[in-house]
Amino acid sequence: MAEFAYVDQLPLGPNDTPMRRLDVAGYRVRGSGDDAVLEVDQSAIQTLADAAFRDLAHFLRPAHLAQLRRIIDDPESSANDRYVALDLLQNANVASGGVLPMCQDTGTAIISAKRGHRIQTDGTDARSLSHGVYQAYQDLNLRYSQMSPVDMWTEANTQNNLPAQIEIGLGQGLEYEFLFMAKGGGSANKSFLYQETKSILDEKRMLEFLKAKIESIGTAACPPYHLAVVIGGTSAEFALKTAKLASAHYLDTLPEQGSDAGHGYRDQDFEQQVFELTTQLGFGAQFGGKYFCHDVRVVRLPRHGGSLPIAIAVSCSADRQVLGRITPEGVFLEELERDPARFIPSTGLAEITDASASVAIDLTVPMTEIRAQLSACSVSTRLSLTGTLIVARDIVHARIRERVARGEGIPDYLLEHPVYYAGPAKTPEGLPSGSFGPTTAGRMDGYVAEFQALDASLVMLAKGNRSAAVTASCHANGGFYLGSVGGPAARLAQDCIRSVEVIDYAELGMEAVFRVEVENFPAFLVVDDKGNDFFKKDDRTFVGLSPTRLRS
Ligand code: SF4
Repeated sequence: MAEFAYVDQLPLGPNDTPMRRLDVAGYRVRGSGDDAVLEVDQSAIQTLADAAFRDLAHFLRPAHLAQLRRIIDDPESSANDRYVALDLLQNANVASGGVLPMCQDTGTAIISAKRGHRIQTDGTDARSLSHGVYQAYQDLNLRYSQMSPVDMWTEANTQNNLPAQIEIGLGQGLEYEFLFMAKGGGSANKSFLYQETKSILDEKRMLEFLKAKIESIGTAACPPYHLAVVIGGTSAEFALKTAKLASAHYLDTLPEQGSDAGHGYRDQDFEQQVFELTTQLGFGAQFGGKYFCHDVRVVRLPRHGGSLPIAIAVSCSADRQVLGRITPEGVFLEELERDPARFIPSTGLAEITDASASVAIDLTVPMTEIRAQLSACSVSTRLSLTGTLIVARDIVHARIRERVARGEGIPDYLLEHPVYYAGPAKTPEGLPSGSFGPTTAGRMDGYVAEFQALDASLVMLAKGNRSAAVTASCHANGGFYLGSVGGPAARLAQDCIRSVEVIDYAELGMEAVFRVEVENFPAFLVVDDKGNDFFKKDDRTFVGLSPTRLRS
């Protein structure tokens, strides 16, 4: 019989992440030696959370930005990989100005903390953390995305982005540690759990399994991703939670090898194999290429002999996580990059953006003419849109369906203009638009055939891949789906959106119907009127990758 030993399933090594000290009071050491305790006031906890979510809205980790730059420098990147990477770097630069958040989906606030056993507070820590989140979302040009269930079928926006998801566990000594995340809906939706069996605990079978599952993630959560795979787990929820932490690189200092003690570990060899696999999928950084992922983390956990949970999660292009810490030395927040411009190449930008490769589409003309312009292009064509878009998303689609069912018909604006699935962040004072990137198109798939049969939604603009039903409907009705680069919402607001006006359902806030005037708004033709879908493997045109690489 093995002797008793406590097993920490996720034993982390020392963390040397550069931190900055906040100018915050409200903490003091009482006593000395083993009796010392660190008293922390709620004001310090609230200020830390407030500062964390301010930073998360505007700044990224330097390592993430360096990975975007790596895509630009890699000769194996496709032209579209480089185009997306540069767009995301330029977006980070706009966001770092502190006015436009990096993405219009400013996320669900998630806080995971470990309170050392010699930290003393009055016990209302979760309330103070929530208050810090509230303050940041109130003060900045962020978006309120949280929907409260009023009854089973009715929801109301909470108008402050609360509730935050807060978990406080027990840690060691005089340290209070925090991981703050602002998780976008599209990114959160790409967390998956599979209940498998020992039969796939084999390298070849596992890689085959993962290939299919990773491919099914698609591009809706704005790649390049930080992908996490967790194999094993003492429960389904622990596997999923571990995947989320791994995608935030929070578990990077796990042991590199397993043992018979029952702790988890990081398998860096297998990470490399899975990364190689992702480069072969062909999705690339959204529109074909190598960089579907920046990197991969694989964590192997202990499991019950009769269970094999496998969890997959991603961190998207809004890779928003920041560490916090309160110690006797002060209140600290991870140092994020204040100067993303240093990652943007000083030469060759015109070659990457290659404006001459874009086809200008005039959206000021009647829909039949807009569709004729698009019909002359093939899928994967880069487009530059100028004119009017109608913004409508989830709730409006449901309401318009009800309206049609009542016999009131489709509103003219959906017949006369292309529809852009999006929902803006708050509009900063003096600017025409808040951060305003595309949302996940797939959520609107269920409406497409019905609306297109009524001559609405014949040209759609959003991000991510669509279902076969959308391709079939576009084929049958002469419709098109245009993909916009997902992620660079601040840059789109600054450079491409000239005016924004609410024209219907104003009470829905960010989910209202907006009329938007755009200029040189970048997009790709993804689904055409001839039954072609860029993301359907056989039809993909990969720019900048050799056919050999793609076939292998
Ligand atoms: S980058 Fe894309 S997936 Fe991430 S929060 Fe923004 S819209 Fe959502």
